[in-house]
Parts: sequence; structure tokens; C-alpha cells
Amino acid sequence: MPLSVVDLYAKILPRTNCKDCGFRTCIAFAGMVVSEKYPLKNCPHIKPDLLKNAQKELDEQYKQGKWLKKDMAQEALAYAKNPAVKM
Ligand code: SF4
Repeated sequence: MPLSVVDLYAKILPRTNCKDCGFRTCIAFAGMVVSEKYPLKNCPHIKPDLLKNAQKELDEQYKQGKWLKKDMAQEALAYAKNPAVKM
């Protein structure tokens, strides 16, 4: 099952906002993991089995491009280069 930012925050992260990952809050860290592929293992407080399963889910959704931050310039260029698009 894909992990949204809220799923990651609510189901996987400890929600202590300890800042050991370098982010001020767990929800900020979750956002970076889901949309920017920031390493989940950078939170040192996730149980190993939970980390392994969550990373597997994340890898699958990364492969599908789900919830990843889009490069708007790249998308606009691809759109403009599409011969079916008349400008
Ligand atoms: S290290 Fe983990 S528990 Fe601490 S703020 Fe970051 S995500 Fe939250």
C-alpha cells in the first residue's frame, strides 16, 4: 500500500519531533521522504522491521512516480515538444 506523507507520519514515524534527522518536525521529514526521496533511514528511531517494510513500499511508489515532487520546467518542455500540441 503506498505511503502518503500523512501515512508515513501517522503509521511509521515516532512523532516525537526530536530533530535527530535534521528536520524540525516529523511531518516535515515525512514530506521530504515521500516527495524528494530523502532516505527514511535518516530517522534513527524507526524499528528495523518497520523501516524495511516502509522502504519497500516507498521504493515501489518512487518507481511509479507517485507523490514525487514534479519538475515543472521539465514537464512544460515535454508538453511543448509534443507534436500533438498546437501553440
Ligand atoms: S528523527 Fe525521526 S522522530 Fe526525530 S524528528 Fe526526525 S522523523 Fe521525527
